[in-house]
Amino acid sequence: MFVMRSTLALTCLLLAAAAPLAAQPEGWTRPFPGHRVIGNLYAVGPYDLGVFLITSPEGHILINTGLENSTPLIRKNIESVGFRLEDVKILLTMQSHWDHTAALAEIKEIAGAEMWATADDARVLEDGGFSDPHFGGKESFKPVKVDRIVADGEVIELGGTRLTVVETPGHTEGSSSYVMKVREGGREYDVAIANMATINRGKRLAVNPTYAGVADDFAETFRKQKALPVDVWVAAHGGQYGLHEKYKPGQAYDPATFVDPQGFRAAVEHYEKLYLEQLAAERR
Ligand SMILES: [Zn+2]
Repeated sequence: MFVMRSTLALTCLLLAAAAPLAAQPEGWTRPFPGHRVIGNLYAVGPYDLGVFLITSPEGHILINTGLENSTPLIRKNIESVGFRLEDVKILLTMQSHWDHTAALAEIKEIAGAEMWATADDARVLEDGGFSDPHFGGKESFKPVKVDRIVADGEVIELGGTRLTVVETPGHTEGSSSYVMKVREGGREYDVAIANMATINRGKRLAVNPTYAGVADDFAETFRKQKALPVDVWVAAHGGQYGLHEKYKPGQAYDPATFVDPQGFRAAVEHYEKLYLEQLAAERR
């Protein structure tokens, strides 16, 4: 009897502990093969989380991670496209939410890489999500020390790659996109690693805003993203950029696979429409 009761108690504990995990979309942990997007840009994340590797002869840039247990999957995907996690020199994020940051501290340690971030995301990265104005008040991922602050328009250079920071705030205060030019087969492509301006459930824009200036931040992001020259784009979630419609596992590399300027424009306008609808609803 005692044994049975203990087992029951243990089961309840396990269920309680598993509950937050069960609420996460399974696409955040489902493995997906690493693949080349275009030029020296590779996608190395799980099924629905964008984790991007930009390779160079002098080491690599890794943008985002997945959840805290995502390091083995990211390592496997990096190796499958012919590179090493240990050669990552610079870590970046598109937004300081745990589904994109939780393995940063671990990968920083493994690779001896530097964490670079925008000022507002740096604060949240360093306190593990505690000061996030929407999801904060508790630690939601392992804090990671930021080595260098990057700002809008800054060019991150590594081994011939020039990656420009485009601050696109709103989703988080320090959300950022990154753009670069890729030469492939005699043609030059404008490539965007774009943080899309989605509004998390419960966030307030105008009346009792989640943080002061959030509505203006989103407006700035839509304006900037609509003005960006974009041939190829990827985003923080595969579903946002049509990853699974554009690419099937095992598909041969073709620089045209992710060329989608109209899709980018349509996605930005879609999120802007949702933003304007929410603004109107709050002011009603
Ligand atoms: Zn987010």
